[in-house]
Amino acid sequence: MDTEILKKDIIAYSKSIGIDKIGFAAPTAFEEMKVRLYRQQELQYQSGFEEKDIEKRTEPALIFNRPKSIISIALAYPSKMKTLVVSKKGERRGIFCRASWGTDYHAVLRDRLKKLEEYIASKVPGARFKSMVDTGELVDRAVAERAGIGWSGKNCSIITPEFGSYVYLGEMITNIPFEPDTPMEDQCGSCNKCVDVCPTGALVQGGQLDAQKCIAFLTQTKGFLADEYREKLGNRIYGCDTCQTVCPENKGKDFHFHTEMEPDPEIAKPLLRPLLTISNREFKERFGHVSGSWRGKKPIQRNAIIALAHYKDDTAIEELILVMRDDPRPVLRGTAAWALGKIGGSDAQDALLRAADREQDEEVLEEIRKGLEFFNADSETNIRI
Ligand code: SF4
Ligand code: SF4
Repeated sequence: MDTEILKKDIIAYSKSIGIDKIGFAAPTAFEEMKVRLYRQQELQYQSGFEEKDIEKRTEPALIFNRPKSIISIALAYPSKMKTLVVSKKGERRGIFCRASWGTDYHAVLRDRLKKLEEYIASKVPGARFKSMVDTGELVDRAVAERAGIGWSGKNCSIITPEFGSYVYLGEMITNIPFEPDTPMEDQCGSCNKCVDVCPTGALVQGGQLDAQKCIAFLTQTKGFLADEYREKLGNRIYGCDTCQTVCPENKGKDFHFHTEMEPDPEIAKPLLRPLLTISNREFKERFGHVSGSWRGKKPIQRNAIIALAHYKDDTAIEELILVMRDDPRPVLRGTAAWALGKIGGSDAQDALLRAADREQDEEVLEEIRKGLEFFNADSETNIRI
């Protein structure tokens, strides 16, 4: 088997199936990443969504019998919508981050990796593979960096010269010994924009993320959102793109190579108010195919309530009162109570006082108190419950 020719053939084939960049890496342990991950664990900077076993995340030989190479792939995704949403005056919308536009990228990349596996298997009898996208053991970014796909930016994204950081990454470990590609030089230089603009200070320093503070992570949590982050959410209902949109390397980068990745603006930027009462079935029908729905509808609804508070949308007061009164989920009742206080008005205040008499859940009561505090701040008479 001439692996040099095979590598060329694979590169050519990858282009024909819509893989925008491909690189090859040695399957040796990711020692630098291992040290980093243990440090992150010690500092409690991890999100908790990742594979728990750091050894497995950094030692390909622990998850694949006698690995010889890792193939890294990247697919570019759009940064701008082709069609814009049309809103009536006063209608407020939330936003899903770009990585949740179009069909769930896990499915798109798995499809490309499967095709690649089939192609290689047709050329090399006995070829073995283990492919993964995001939720696998390996750290996609570490593999992509080693395979020369891009450099690891201070915003913790892989930055490709061609597509900026708007790329999805996936990889496959194989038993075929390909010549590895050369990693890229770090090109962030003295720029520090992403670290400077991060709304929550989650980029502790260039290249180091405290996921527990990152809005992308926080939008995916299911409990009450800590007070200090509610104002920072803005209208983000899933994910955060700020450290990517400010990056000069992303300037002018907007690629529309894959129809599956084209966003439906009504889904990527949905109206907020209808989200408060959306049924499970409707949520699944409308949002089930996007990656941002993986945690179910509760976090999206909680974030929509926070976004309505951010806009001080008084047209939502009636719906928020109903959520505070009737929703069976304490997180939504409580967040609605806080939002009502934030939006203000006598209807909101009356409803909060009524809810204070009726509510049994301690955490929700605490949110009702917080809601009423907003009125106290504006008046001389303190309302106590
Ligand atoms: Fe900060 Fe948002 Fe980037 Fe997270 S995704 S590091 S919150 S800018
Ligand atoms: Fe690097 Fe600047 Fe982009 Fe941050 S904003 S990733 S420092 S180039």
